[in-house]
Amino acid sequence: MEKLRFLTPERVREVRARFGTPAYVYDEASLLRQARAVLAFARPHPLTARYAMKAASNAAILRLFSRLGLGIDASSGFECRRALHAGVPASAISLSSQECPEDLEELLALGIQFNACSPAQIESFARARSGGELGLRFNPGLGTGGTNRTNVGGPASSFGIWHETRETIREQVARLGLRAVRIHSHIGSGGDPTVWQRVAGMTLEIVKSFPEVHTVNLGGGFKIARMADETGTDLGRVGDSVREALEAFTRETGRALHLEIEPGTFLVAGAGALVASVHDAAVTGAGGYRFLKLDAGMTEILRPSLYGARHPIVIVPGEGPDREATGDYVVVGHCCESGDILTPAPGDPERLDPRRLMAAQAGDLCVIEGAGAYCSSMAATNYNSFPRAPEILLRSDGSLVLIRRRQAAEAVYGDEVPADLLPGT
Ligand SMILES: *Cc1c(COP(=O)(O)O)cnc(C)c1O
Repeated sequence: MEKLRFLTPERVREVRARFGTPAYVYDEASLLRQARAVLAFARPHPLTARYAMKAASNAAILRLFSRLGLGIDASSGFECRRALHAGVPASAISLSSQECPEDLEELLALGIQFNACSPAQIESFARARSGGELGLRFNPGLGTGGTNRTNVGGPASSFGIWHETRETIREQVARLGLRAVRIHSHIGSGGDPTVWQRVAGMTLEIVKSFPEVHTVNLGGGFKIARMADETGTDLGRVGDSVREALEAFTRETGRALHLEIEPGTFLVAGAGALVASVHDAAVTGAGGYRFLKLDAGMTEILRPSLYGARHPIVIVPGEGPDREATGDYVVVGHCCESGDILTPAPGDPERLDPRRLMAAQAGDLCVIEGAGAYCSSMAATNYNSFPRAPEILLRSDGSLVLIRRRQAAEAVYGDEVPADLLPGT
């Protein structure tokens, strides 16, 4: 059975008593440990490591990572604004976006770096900053990633400039009087060092077409083991294989490149947990299931419903010691939506996969682990009009600090314009 990672039953109860449920809790010690591991990547080569902030975008997390020397990878102009608001210096922010922001000119003037992800974005950049230096995001033609929903390279992915068009792109950049100084490829490379080496090799092949490029960015995608049967990335081994590829490139071309990486998942996934309450149960007879109903769900953690992602789940009795008894439960969320399940079959959100948990009843607590990445930042927020859950930081000294308040119920509908649209009025 799964265990709590950084919380204790007492602390889980303290979270509910002080902040209510559901609530996200992040562990400062885990965030620091992961950041240090990333900053040690590929040493002794110079490295810029960025945090892909879409994984968890709270200002407290951005500030913590920024202070440790991590830059920021932003996925939209709005994320740039949010990082700036958190106090991250513009020069530490790099933007790689599917959608070119309307305020690009202003963001560039502030000093934000830009990776163009399409020929149209190169045109937009030229209009916003004539003669400027930019990065180019390529799709090197190879994909990995857990499912088609998370795969961000290869012919089935729309991210980046298709690698076979690089000569046309080189001409476009020259014609517009720009300088391409970075080549970027984020394909969600996973945990296998040989895949990283291949991706690095394919990306470095592209670099050969751009003599002014001094930096290569291999993106993020370092896998984390959430469940016991998963294997995480051995960052040291991936670092070694990437370093070998860089050294071979230098031997062959005489060019020394600066390396950038920008993990999201690796930095935060294991450092977050969602604390929820069990408020009800249901049993559906012969051939059916035993369901546990939580006061959280796809409104806080969408990954299981979206792509059958699995998270460790731990029951904490509302009071008293742990129970010996166990049960096989399908854990479901609070939305009126049959897809709101937290125990799907691996990679198959359509199929229910009962989980063996401590025997549970209404009033217990339920902790969903591995909830640091793509949970608070990527949920069906406000569906069924549930307000956004608060976020709490467990400091290294053991204190619990509120870093985002629970959304007020009125804020869910507060932006609506109360127009009276009855016919004839
Ligand atoms: C999302 C994203 C990342 C981070 O991916 P993880 O799998 O969370 O490490 C890095 N770079 C870019 C461009 C991204 O869009």
